[in-house]
Amino acid sequence: MSNLATIADNIQDVRENIARACAVAGRTSDDVTLIAVSKTKPVSAIIEALDAGITHFGENRVEEAALKVPEVKQQRTNLPTWHMIGHIQSRKAKAVATLFDVVHGVDTPKLALKLAEQAQLVGRVLPIMLEINISGEDTKEGFLAHGWETNNAVKAQLWQEFEAIMGLRGLSIQGLMTMAPFYDEAEATRPIFRSLALLREALSEHFKVVLPQLSMGMTNDYAVAIEEGATMVRVGRAIFGER
Ligand SMILES: *Cc1c(COP(=O)(O)O)cnc(C)c1O
Repeated sequence: MSNLATIADNIQDVRENIARACAVAGRTSDDVTLIAVSKTKPVSAIIEALDAGITHFGENRVEEAALKVPEVKQQRTNLPTWHMIGHIQSRKAKAVATLFDVVHGVDTPKLALKLAEQAQLVGRVLPIMLEINISGEDTKEGFLAHGWETNNAVKAQLWQEFEAIMGLRGLSIQGLMTMAPFYDEAEATRPIFRSLALLREALSEHFKVVLPQLSMGMTNDYAVAIEEGATMVRVGRAIFGER
């Protein structure tokens, strides 16, 4: 990614890296959705990416998206899918439930309930991802799942929360989302992604539900995430440059 590279060039590079990681894992690129994270970037950059074939965008602030989503709609007829990837305050649930197509950052039962209420009010079923804190860092949002494989209390709590959210009308749990800690070596993130993939398997099996999506991997670590089963990668800087 040089300064002269265009957004279209960057997208091409990212797509090649995705294909390579899929090949390593014996998967097909069609299984991986590239979400271009356009937070802080102008609408002109989104249009460039859209014209270069991007169909999914990620934003992390409601106010910012409320400006950008309608602007994009004015400029193009091929509308992308908008993903809310940031932390959501409950009082913004209404805006989120109307503005976004998919919500990744559902991190408390209370927020899930608010989103469910709002989705029902506008007569839709909102696809959501539960944000999971695998690493246990206290700076991270998400349902605490650090050590869930061996810690029965952590597991019991998670199972209970999952069951409650599963029962909410207005929401459809599509899968799990996580953010790995920042490490110098991307390889160090592997256990985090592997643990999330195993958690998805365990929940699917226990609750007899299909959880098609694993939203994991960002600019620094998306190749590792794909090797561990990511179906959605959220890539910002590698496409749009530094923020
Ligand atoms: C900003 C952000 C990304 C993208 O990060 P990059 O390092 O720019 O690829 C992905 N996921 C979440 C939740 C983010 O906030």
